[in-house]
Amino acid sequence: MKIHEYQAKNLFREYGIPVPTGGPAFSAWEAFEVASKLKTEKTVVKAQIHAGGRGKAGGVKIVNTPEEVEKTAESLLSKTLVTKQSGPEGKIVRKLLIEEALSIKQELYLGVLIDRAERKIAVIASASGGMEIEEIAAKSPEKILRFHIDPLVGCGPFVCRNIAFGLGLAGTAVKFIAEIVEKAYRLFIEKDCSLIEMNPLVVLTDDRVIALDAKIDFDDNSLTRHKELLNLRDFFEEEPLEIQANRYGIDYVKLEGNVGCMVNGAGLAMATMDIIRKYGGMPANFLDIKGGANKENVIHAFTLLMADPKVKAVLINIFGGIVKCDMVANGILEAMNFVKVDVPVVVRLEGTNAVEARNILNNADFSFKVADGLASAALAAVGIAGPWQQ
Ligand code: GDP
Ligand code: MN
Repeated sequence: MKIHEYQAKNLFREYGIPVPTGGPAFSAWEAFEVASKLKTEKTVVKAQIHAGGRGKAGGVKIVNTPEEVEKTAESLLSKTLVTKQSGPEGKIVRKLLIEEALSIKQELYLGVLIDRAERKIAVIASASGGMEIEEIAAKSPEKILRFHIDPLVGCGPFVCRNIAFGLGLAGTAVKFIAEIVEKAYRLFIEKDCSLIEMNPLVVLTDDRVIALDAKIDFDDNSLTRHKELLNLRDFFEEEPLEIQANRYGIDYVKLEGNVGCMVNGAGLAMATMDIIRKYGGMPANFLDIKGGANKENVIHAFTLLMADPKVKAVLINIFGGIVKCDMVANGILEAMNFVKVDVPVVVRLEGTNAVEARNILNNADFSFKVADGLASAALAAVGIAGPWQQ
């Protein structure tokens, strides 16, 4: 689960990580109010969307007076911001963060994430943080430092000081950064984060160190034990079909292609997407219908697939291990009485009672393309939907 910068900064405050003074605003008038209370010389107006790269896209503005804040807020609110991370369709700005502007001496990068290859939490740090971090990572990877944290030892003062020294810093900055790393690690563990990012973490001209930007992602699987975090979810920022899938208890991720996939099992679902790509097509989604591919689940899955106007063909790929294929075939037929399926459907059923299942589908009113084998199923689906050009 992703949250907004202003919400991440509230969590930083809770953990004693310094952030600029300020607060969120949901209207231009409220932005004026927040700015008036700040009483600072300059104020930053920041678009709140679940995507980075706002600075370069015009979503972060520094202005002088509360009146200017109000005007800037008006120009940003309800606009679509297209950033490097937002996708080409962009994101609508519905919230702003109004903050004191600070005078920056150096922009650093600090991140905490899970390094799956190392099976450890890693602290990523760089003395060259800010808006060019992606280019720096690509062109001068030696400027990005990676520290793996031993889960048994944790991220104690010694480790944290090493990280701060690694950034080439001296004086009070070392102490401040070491404290911030320690607190960020504690937040990461206690709230089951999958990512914490401060880009930039800044050293100010008065040598204070402050998280100027804040990004936190949480591990969705841990949310059952963090009820307090559920309030931070912003449905406006999420893909509507994914929210609907979530209600159905189906694992669904929307993608850009035109072959709608309905598969049981996450591994098989990924293999299905791979083979569609292999034959030159593009999946419209990842969809794991979960173990029992019963009538209800198939109805839900068809509902999701048919709600995506890009879907030109459906590929159903079910392996009947525990569930019997003939029951799945009957479930598919029944489901089609409830959902209008107006694109061709290719079905590959394998496993227990597969022969009976194929007979059921071949004798049905709807003309399924019953394939034997995953390769021929994928070829048929891509043949109908067409090769992917983009
Ligand atoms: P992002 O582009 O979405 O990552 O948004 P950021 O919050 O990182 O802001 C982008 C850039 O705006 C930062 O890297 C800073 O250079 C600049 N910026 C943001 N707040 C301030 C501020 O208070 N003072 C100054 N001088 N620059 C700021
Ligand atoms: Mn940033």
